[in-house]
Amino acid sequence: MKYALITGASRGIGKAIALKLAAEGYYIVINFRSNQEEAEKTLAAIRELGSDGELLKFDVGDKNDINQVLGSWIDANKEKPIEVLVNNAGIRKDNLLMTMSDEDWSSVLSTNLDSFFYVTKLVVPVMLFHKYGRIVNVVSLSGVKGLPGQTNYSASKAGVIGASKSLAQEIGRRGITVNCVAPGFIKTEMTEGIDETAYKNIIPMKRFGTSEEVAEVVSFLASPGASYITGEVINVNGGLHT
Ligand code: NAP
Repeated sequence: MKYALITGASRGIGKAIALKLAAEGYYIVINFRSNQEEAEKTLAAIRELGSDGELLKFDVGDKNDINQVLGSWIDANKEKPIEVLVNNAGIRKDNLLMTMSDEDWSSVLSTNLDSFFYVTKLVVPVMLFHKYGRIVNVVSLSGVKGLPGQTNYSASKAGVIGASKSLAQEIGRRGITVNCVAPGFIKTEMTEGIDETAYKNIIPMKRFGTSEEVAEVVSFLASPGASYITGEVINVNGGLHT
């Protein structure tokens, strides 16, 4: 089998990516932070598709947890080499910079940006050994253009974009690509409090997107066919660029 690790695969966009890659024959390592019940549902849906997977609970915002749980898993599962890594888990804690707490700044940066460093650092050696890999990072429109009330979130996603472009140049010669997918407004629990009717007039497609529409692009970038694309950011935002 082919093996993929998807962070934050219990719900939302990560779950849709997990199902899409499972349908393409991947064994899915489903990371989540706390929602065991939803993670179990993702695994059950993967099995219904005829594929398989397992749950791997760790907090991507905690480097000790990553190193301990994911590090031990990689050491103990040499027969399951990860060839696709999707860094998807993320949070937002919006506030104006003037009133943003230190905690809201640092927790968003550690969950969305530091996670890229600590998770990818463990997985890249496996890909280098096998001379093949696809790393796809789920960033955001907010990291491409900035959005008011999201200095922490925008900084974290822009940071991942910059880091991806650097890493793409470090490991391209070894058959490993590193790309980003930048969703606009997508219907998930993360956007539950945002009124679609208030925003859809500024979106050329006149609606929020779906997790499945993001998963389509991730799956293309994760495929062998995307072999000459690296260091790229593909926007999935219904045309909402400005
Ligand atoms: P969501 O519905 O809130 O789901 C978040 C997922 O990430 C859940 O599986 C959650 O696990 C996991 N997660 C959160 N913090 C974690 C942590 N510290 N460690 C491990 N897992 C963690 O979010 P979503 O809308 O699908 O967003 C997925 C990604 O897309 C994020 O990076 C987000 O920034 C990005 N994005 C979303 C939108 C949008 O409009 N929805 C737009 C642009 C970018 P639990 O179930 O265990 O909590």
